[in-house]
Amino acid sequence: MNYQEIFQEISNELKGFDEIGQVATYIPALAKGNPNKFGMYLVTEEGHEYAHGDTEEPFSIQSISKVLSLVYAFKLVGTDLWKRVGVEPSGSPFNSLVQLEYEQGIPRNPLINAGAIVICDILISQLENPYDDFIRFVRELSGNPNIQYREETAASEKECGYKNNAHINLMKSFGNIDNDVEQVLDFYFYLCSIEMSCKDLAQTFMFLARGGKNPLTNKRVLTAQETKRINSIMLLCGFYDEAGEFAFKVGLPGKSGVGGGIVAIYPDQYSIAVWSPGLNSKGNSSKGIKALEIFTTITQSNVFGPM
Ligand code: GLN
Repeated sequence: MNYQEIFQEISNELKGFDEIGQVATYIPALAKGNPNKFGMYLVTEEGHEYAHGDTEEPFSIQSISKVLSLVYAFKLVGTDLWKRVGVEPSGSPFNSLVQLEYEQGIPRNPLINAGAIVICDILISQLENPYDDFIRFVRELSGNPNIQYREETAASEKECGYKNNAHINLMKSFGNIDNDVEQVLDFYFYLCSIEMSCKDLAQTFMFLARGGKNPLTNKRVLTAQETKRINSIMLLCGFYDEAGEFAFKVGLPGKSGVGGGIVAIYPDQYSIAVWSPGLNSKGNSSKGIKALEIFTTITQSNVFGPM
């Protein structure tokens, strides 16, 4: 398949796409983002790589980090994890508080804010040096030793993180947060602040397309069965109240972030990352979803079978 040509075709088709959306403004550091950035990066099973546009520039991965923290916590505590967080799609916005009260402080899934905050609580309980250990884990998956947290973004989010404060306090009241709330939230904001490029993201998520094995080191990150669980959570919960639409249009497990990044995997075939900071009303990259829809349509690749 000539992926380079396909990328060009997508780029041509997107020229007439005018639902660019808006950069996230509720985190002041992200409001400065340039909505015209666009990158697509593909890593295949055979280790071939294809780039188009702004693929080397690091951006804020935001909620994409939720998959990585979930994987790390799952490795550490195994199935005990599911006592603290569910695996059902929420059908609600990523920062909605509504279900949390009904469900007694047990978040619906690990990819909404409440779920990711519980995962941070688990990591803090389990790790002596959570910040160092986590960034080391991400660097090893990506093969890029320069990946960093961005303090400025974390601080900016902390300054106006009222809703996340509400989440953690509600969960604490139900007994689902063990550590100090400020300590846990600080860690959550740092995870969201990690900066990666499309290239880094596509490489990092490749282990989820390879049954749990990091192709760079050949080390097993997860078992095949555990990988299935993470991929199914991405498919059902990776885009919040747009998860159904993403599966419907794109047909791959994936994850978005309010920095405008999306990463998706096709088991045994490839991992693909897209970046376009303009978001739709659900907080997902508007052009990013369109680009992936065109990509999986042209390549006829989706987890629901050949067309
Ligand atoms: N840091 C963001 C928040 O907590 C992450 C949201 C996202 O990327 N969807 O609101």
